[in-house]
Amino acid sequence: MGIQLFKPHYEIEECLKEIRDCLEKGWTGLGYKTVEFEKAWKEYTRLPFAYHVNSATIGLYFAVDILKERYGWSDGDEIITTPLTFVSTNHAILKSNLTPVFADIDETLCLSPHSVREKVTEKSRAVMFVGMGGNTGNYKEIVEICKENGLALILDAAHMAGTRLNGEIPGKEAEAVIYSFQAVKNLPTADSGMLCFRDGDLDAIARKKGWLGINKDTYTRTSDAGNYKWRYEVDYVGDKAHGNSVMAAIGLAQLKFLDRDNAYRRQIATWYREQLQGHEEYIRTIPIAKGCESSTHLFQVLVNNRDEVMMRLNSQDIFPGVHYTNNQKYSMYRDKGKKCPYAEYVSEHVISLPMHMELTYEDVIYISKLLVESAEYKLDGIDK
Ligand SMILES: *Cc1c(COP(=O)(O)O)cnc(C)c1O
Repeated sequence: MGIQLFKPHYEIEECLKEIRDCLEKGWTGLGYKTVEFEKAWKEYTRLPFAYHVNSATIGLYFAVDILKERYGWSDGDEIITTPLTFVSTNHAILKSNLTPVFADIDETLCLSPHSVREKVTEKSRAVMFVGMGGNTGNYKEIVEICKENGLALILDAAHMAGTRLNGEIPGKEAEAVIYSFQAVKNLPTADSGMLCFRDGDLDAIARKKGWLGINKDTYTRTSDAGNYKWRYEVDYVGDKAHGNSVMAAIGLAQLKFLDRDNAYRRQIATWYREQLQGHEEYIRTIPIAKGCESSTHLFQVLVNNRDEVMMRLNSQDIFPGVHYTNNQKYSMYRDKGKKCPYAEYVSEHVISLPMHMELTYEDVIYISKLLVESAEYKLDGIDK
């Protein structure tokens, strides 16, 4: 088997108990556990609204689409975003006929406030912030930039389940926060996500759009509703985006262990940092923002000879990953704006080391030793 990058960890008995409830009740779809999971998520995060969706991808798309409509943004208006992310983040912008304007990242691998400021134009409407690997980066400064310039803030929190900043779950400053509970994220269901709008009206729109645009309220509000349960209005050409009770059941079970799991992930990160200490010229770790208690979805490092390091680790049955390739390398983003030098650099030098609940201290020592042996070239001057 070797040591994989990710391995989802499930609290099997707890999950089965919650799923059993669904099967016995004969209710696996929308409602029931999805409502319970949304409630539990709101209590956990203290965000005012939470809509359980079938992926963070659709959640991101809905966030951009619904904010565009609400604020009357025009086609071609700009959203300042990071090029170093999973393509879901930026596809959400393109799908809404908006223009992604790439700003550079800083040493935390999150958006650089300095670079974001430089990208603001009269066509800017929002900033899309990705908490890379669970890190909050310079989120607080980005919040300030958004306030100063009247920009909406969208937080792609796909890596951030359980991340805290100064003791609180960040996100109440954002118009929308989107979480992923995909199988290899740090709160795995199997596939689903959560879309958390700050405004209840937008949450209500998302719920309609997430079920083909169907609006049941129109008829249920009338006095003879009892006779017309099957009637409904259709307000939008919507999508099928809502979550289901089986995914929510797994989420409910797993949420109880999220803080415990993230604490172990931080322990693993501490072990890596200890082992890699003294090798900074060859292997650079990523600083965690001050006050950030990271979910530690990822543990990333920079090396100068990535391909050799990857091959060496693979030859020992260790399978790291890469997060991410600069999105400007992909055809649909190639001509969008100026180059981002540090994102380009990271895209060519970054490795994600194995990070999951079944790693042991011995694994970390073994991986780190091989990494130190194989990272043979000094990192050149990094311009960030
Ligand atoms: C995984 C991921 C997504 C998409 O999540 P899904 O739930 O798989 O759709 C979006 N953004 C980032 C940064 C991700 O890592």
